[in-house]
Amino acid sequence: MANVTLRSVRKTYPGGFEAIKGVDVDVGDGQFCVLVGPSGCGKSTLLRMVAGLETVTGGEIDIGGRVVNQVEPADRDIAMVFQNYALYPHMSVYNNMAYGLRNRGMAEAEIKTRVEEAARVLELAPMLERKPRQLSGGQRQRVAMGRAIVRQPKVFLFDEPLSNLDAKLRIAMRVEIRKLQRRLNTTSIYVTHDQLEAMTLADILVVMNGGQVEQVGNPLAIYEKPATTFVASFIGAPPMNLMSTRPDEIKSQLGSAGEAGILGIRPEDFVITDQTPAGGVALSLIVEAIERVGAETFVYGSRQQEEQRVAATPGELPPGEVIVRIPGTEAPGIGQTIRVAAVRAKLHLFSGDGRKRIE
Ligand code: ATP
Repeated sequence: MANVTLRSVRKTYPGGFEAIKGVDVDVGDGQFCVLVGPSGCGKSTLLRMVAGLETVTGGEIDIGGRVVNQVEPADRDIAMVFQNYALYPHMSVYNNMAYGLRNRGMAEAEIKTRVEEAARVLELAPMLERKPRQLSGGQRQRVAMGRAIVRQPKVFLFDEPLSNLDAKLRIAMRVEIRKLQRRLNTTSIYVTHDQLEAMTLADILVVMNGGQVEQVGNPLAIYEKPATTFVASFIGAPPMNLMSTRPDEIKSQLGSAGEAGILGIRPEDFVITDQTPAGGVALSLIVEAIERVGAETFVYGSRQQEEQRVAATPGELPPGEVIVRIPGTEAPGIGQTIRVAAVRAKLHLFSGDGRKRIE
């Protein structure tokens, strides 16, 4: 079994900067965990601590039932795949994959079996004698994966492994990584700042912000019920519309009159209609811009003056701007007024500071 458990993990860098402020995460055996968050939130620091490349200054990291805080990276039974692949340019693909095993003194016959099996799985068999410079970016990435696979580790760690690839290859490799992980059933922790990559890969998604965990869970559950306005605007593209609400509008939900809150509605949850659904929300928008991307159209609208209220939390839209997704066959004209509505079940309500989900 190779569960990875982080208990109250902290990291203060020399100089005093606290990059990780007490993180708890449980990754079950064979699960794919994705750490996602904006630049500087601490996701690479956390991954490097699991790898043993950074010291742990507080709490415990447990891999397969053993606390590894003091264990050397080489003895943690993990294999890491880096963003820049870290391949040896002068070595063949075969030798790049064999290198780590030779260092451990493994017999050549066993090395050959493992490298050939990994090459088969990764479709690298015809390229084993090539040097990294004779490979495409995607193929190099697969060699880096191969080097991790041949070690048969308990845990794979991925640090933004796809960020050097172009958009199309990224999607293809994302699917490959997921298929491979399902097949090998190896516990994995994967760092990315790309929320789409995070959503599609993760069994467990960990959304980080400022050295802390904002929310942990199943990706769709997080999309459907974000715990904070930070998560609401980070997961989903374009982001959820966040609007401060008038106290009287939400007092029934908040319980006490006079408390301000934040209302969230995803662009895809609006429909163009003149009706106001019971308990739902209707808005009149002046169309400022449209983006037609084929199957769908995004409308950027401004709310009419009497409906505008001041935005109150970080990460939310400028005051009065609302994004609406409509079918690609529809395209209202710039300057036109449209009426859109969202049903009650699609409304998200947060406390005024955005730190708590109310409904
Ligand atoms: P990115 O997506 O940009 O790589 P990240 O979420 O992976 O960001 P980290 O690299 O973990 O972020 O960095 C977290 C914070 O710790 C940042 O504010 C960074 O400046 C700081 N930091 C990272 N390494 C060190 C270091 N060696 N000494 C001091 N501070 C550091």
